[in-house]
This record gives sequence, C-alpha cells and structure tokens, in this order.
Amino acid sequence: MAVLVTGGAGYIGSHTVAALLERGEDIVVLDNLQQGHKEALLGGKLYVGDLRDAEVLDRVFTENEIDAIIHFAANSLVGESMKLPGKYYHNNVYGTLCLLEKMNEYNVKKIVFSSTAATYGEPEQVPIDEYDRTLPTNAYGETKLAMEKMMQWFDTAHEIKSISLRYFNAAGAHDSGKIGEDHRPETHLVPIVLEAALGKRPHISVFGDDYDTPDGTCIRDYIHVSDLADAHVLAVDRLRTGADSSVYNLGNGQGFSVKEVIEIARTVTGKEIPALIEPRRAGDPAVLVASSERARSELGWAPSRSELKHIITSAWNWHASRPNGYEG
Ligand code: UDP
Repeated sequence: MAVLVTGGAGYIGSHTVAALLERGEDIVVLDNLQQGHKEALLGGKLYVGDLRDAEVLDRVFTENEIDAIIHFAANSLVGESMKLPGKYYHNNVYGTLCLLEKMNEYNVKKIVFSSTAATYGEPEQVPIDEYDRTLPTNAYGETKLAMEKMMQWFDTAHEIKSISLRYFNAAGAHDSGKIGEDHRPETHLVPIVLEAALGKRPHISVFGDDYDTPDGTCIRDYIHVSDLADAHVLAVDRLRTGADSSVYNLGNGQGFSVKEVIEIARTVTGKEIPALIEPRRAGDPAVLVASSERARSELGWAPSRSELKHIITSAWNWHASRPNGYEG
C-alpha cells in the first residue's frame, strides 16, 4: 500500500516525503511542478500532473494501491490570492473536489490535509486553539477553510476520514542539507532575511513597527518544517487506526517578533543584515501563536527541532550552500 502525496515536490511536501521515506513507506507523488521542484524529491514515484486532470488521477489510482493521501497541492501566496481569488478557488477548492471525488470512486478513505493558521484570521485570543472562531481575512485562508469543510461533508456522506493540520509559520530546512525552501517569488520572512545576509537583497524590509507588541513588530510562531513533516506521518498513522476526522494546530507555542528573528539571524550568520522599517503589510495580524496541545496529546507529536536558533541555522545551511536554490 502506498501513500499518495499531492504537491510532494513543494517545500513542506518534499520534507514530508523525506520523513515517509525514513519510515520505509511506499510513496507516490502527484505534482504539476508549477511551484514544486523535481530535485526536491528524495524518493517516491512521481506523476507530473494536475489534480483537475481526471486522466492523471485515474492513472495514479489504477497503477498504485493507495491507502492514504497527504494533500499539499495548492496555491499559497496570500498577496496573490487577494489579486487573483479565482485562481485560488479553481486550483485549491475545485482541485480538492476533484481529488475527493476520485477518492470516493476508488474507495480511498484517508486524507491528511495541509491547512493553515490563515483559517482563523484575526485571532480572538492567543494562543489560538482549534475551537476558536475561523474568519479568514484573505482569499487564500478562505479557500483552505472551504477545503476543510468539503472534507467534513465527504466524511458525513462517504466516510472519508480527514485530518486537517493548521500550520503556523513553517521555516528551516532538512538536517541533511539536501532540501530546503525555494519559493518563487519568495515572500516569507526567514528566507528573505537570509537572502539579505547573502547579499542577494540590499536589506530586509520590516513591515510595520507600530503594532501593539513589545518591540512594535509582528509576532509569529515559527515551526521547523521537519517537525511539521513528522506530524503528517503521525496523522496518517492515526487515520490507519480508524480514528475519526479532526483538526490540529501545529506550532511551537512560542512567539518571536520580526526584530527578534532578524537579531537571531545576525548571530547565526555573523552578517550585518541591514533592516529598513516600512509600512504594515495589509492583512497581517499583530500576534499569531498556536496552542498545539491537541496535536501533542492525540497525535503524540513532539516537535524537537523548533528552537528558533536551530530553525535559522538549518535554513542558513541550505541557503548558504544553495544560494540559487534548486537551480544552483
Ligand atoms: N515580514 C516582514 N518582511 C518581509 C516578510 C515578512 O516584516 O519581507 C513579516 C510579516 O509582516 C509577518 C512576519 O514577517 O509579520 C512573517 O511573515 P511571513 O510572510 O513569513 O509569514 P505569514 O505570517 O504571513 O504567514
């Protein structure tokens, strides 16, 4: 029996493929390679194709014995989603619908879903737990919430069990140094700070220093990508025991400000990293920190690489050795 990983050539997908390989799982990857990188795959059988292409899904399901799915394939840029919501509804929501219908057709009953803290929007309380209000403030978060809900209805009607994992801020790179973060364009804080350390950018822009936080910059909960990957493997295990559908937050439970991230990156890299204060970025909540108690107690998840210094050191190993990412 194999695990199908959609979007397995992407950042979190490829680290999850690595974690599954370590466990000796049979892996099938479906990725359209629009954002993913073939070189990010350390193993598995790759199908290059799109979720919305029924023919490729038929091939995946008839040529392999799929027992569970980990579903990453989606567009994930908040800014782009505000300009092109149709693209997000089409690829994310309709793509997931196509996948769920094929799961039903081929009697595949387990799916682990890559969701996001963006499903909460502006938090009502910090740390955020899974029972808090979900009111996304951007189209990307709205599509992820719609995908979660679609899965719940497919459970009610067809007994397809799902675990949705709502990530906070994924960062870092695999301990082997073989895979890491390579988004084009890059919008995330940690890789951008490290690009500034490498001299690929003149400075890091700090988006706002007038938030209601101790140093005025936004606070986020950074979690190592390999810790996230482990949670997906544990979620597959849980579904294999016959567990019910559920939702889990994945974060470290500790917040760091933008200025603190830059300061730690200066220590790790030994570089100056010039920073410029710029206006706030639309839609950024001041503080996002997760309560991941539920994932710890029910999945047995124990993040072990998510000390911020370790996250940034692992990311720096990757960026410094591959300054041009997978093209380097
Ligand atoms: N940020 C920043 N400069 C950048 C990129 C991000 O100041 O060039 C800030 C952003 O406003 C947020 C935090 O860093 O407060 C984390 O942003 P990121 O895009 O990495 O993740 P998000 O929290 O939006 O998912």
